[in-house]
Amino acid sequence: MHELAVTEGMLKVVLRHAERNQARKVVGITLQIGEMSDIVDEWLRRYFDYLSRGTIAEGAEITIRRTPAVFRCEDCGEEYVVNIKAGNGFSCPECGTNKVEMVSGREFLVQELKVI
Ligand SMILES: [Zn+2]
Repeated sequence: MHELAVTEGMLKVVLRHAERNQARKVVGITLQIGEMSDIVDEWLRRYFDYLSRGTIAEGAEITIRRTPAVFRCEDCGEEYVVNIKAGNGFSCPECGTNKVEMVSGREFLVQELKVI
């Protein structure tokens, strides 16, 4: 469900950009998605296929780049990358506190657009 709204928004951005550049067809879209984002690639691709039907973005190849989750410690200021899959938790590796904030990791951006 979440992916549907996100994909709809993404398609709008893509089409607006393509129109502005007088593109005839969108052939490739590169997305930058934070590793902490709960977007499921598979669903995003399916919704895109469905939503883009009949638009100039139909059949575009989607490339998804996951960007790492970066946190900053509120106590010592240390900035560090958290490997979500390793499951080591989010506490600061420098001083061990849990008072940390996320710097990046939830972004969703259209990074590149290939049009003809
Ligand atoms: Zn710290």
